[in-house]
Amino acid sequence: MNLMKQLPGVLIPWHQANKRDLPWRTDPSPYHTWLSEIMLQQTRIEAVIPYYHRFLAELPTIADLADVSEERLLKLWEGLGYYSRARNLKKAAMAVMEQYGGNLPISFAELRALPGIGDYTAGAIASMAFGQPEPAVDGNVLRVVTRLTGDDGDIAMNATKKRITQLLREVYPVGSDAGDFTEGLMELGETICIPAGAPRCEECPARHLCVAYAQNLTQQLPVKSAKKERKIENKTLLLLHCNGMYGIRKRSDAGLLAGMWEFPWVAEPMTDKLKEKIAKTYYLDEAGVIPIGSATHIFTHIEWHMDGYVGTCTKPSENLIWVTPDQLIHEIALPTAFRYYKKWILDHKENM
Ligand code: SF4
Repeated sequence: MNLMKQLPGVLIPWHQANKRDLPWRTDPSPYHTWLSEIMLQQTRIEAVIPYYHRFLAELPTIADLADVSEERLLKLWEGLGYYSRARNLKKAAMAVMEQYGGNLPISFAELRALPGIGDYTAGAIASMAFGQPEPAVDGNVLRVVTRLTGDDGDIAMNATKKRITQLLREVYPVGSDAGDFTEGLMELGETICIPAGAPRCEECPARHLCVAYAQNLTQQLPVKSAKKERKIENKTLLLLHCNGMYGIRKRSDAGLLAGMWEFPWVAEPMTDKLKEKIAKTYYLDEAGVIPIGSATHIFTHIEWHMDGYVGTCTKPSENLIWVTPDQLIHEIALPTAFRYYKKWILDHKENM
């Protein structure tokens, strides 16, 4: 029998017997499935769990999510990164309230049309929350299926993803089995057919079906074209301090970390000339700026290399918004990229 046809019969019972207790599984609902899938994009399960609980404690329904202020929403998301995910959740919640009376739509096409929901997430919600025979194909599933079938297509190419999606769609079960098959594929990719190091084939329930295992190709598959090197951006970052408050500003509405708060920075190294310029712009006192350490933050395509300086201002510059350390903790959503400098402020708040 075709190996793909046998796969649901192998993975569904394996998943039912072995599934991990995760909060969105023990208390499932379409909203919970949607929220967890969005949070899990680019983020580890262990990191997501406390955010998931905190988010639902404050926004228990889609109606609450549609109504939340952007500032509060970003604060709840602070540290998870990829903030457009949070903004799109709210936009989609508003659309669900307007178009579907507060209930997520059931069909893949209607889910796919909501902001922030791509093919993978639409497939995950359709199969896991509504029992539709829709595959959810991410990097884990691509790895598992290319190894199982011995497919040497480049998984970075859309054509490979389409082919694998079609292969899966042809064998997808319906009803509760659809969700268990989706989760089983994901779980196999996360725990057994792992991305780094050798897959744990001896523990794999699908080993008897697997072409890569039979032909000793597990190290060659999947094939993935090399990623482009990340662009490095150097920044001189300023923690400007005035009367117990620090100066922050909003990033532009487009591009990386769009509309998020940040500490002011310039894209040039600290020199005497730059010190003079900063002193004039921000009314620095005579002590000038003092180095407080470097930090690096890695985004998908860019790396920020930051050198931080602290300076005290004689009056607050009108170019910045001035906030207390307590506001930084409780109200302002600062991207994780600035974690080192936020911590510096909190560690020094008694002395400033
Ligand atoms: S047998 Fe090995 S390579 Fe094949 S699916 Fe299982 S873990 Fe992956």
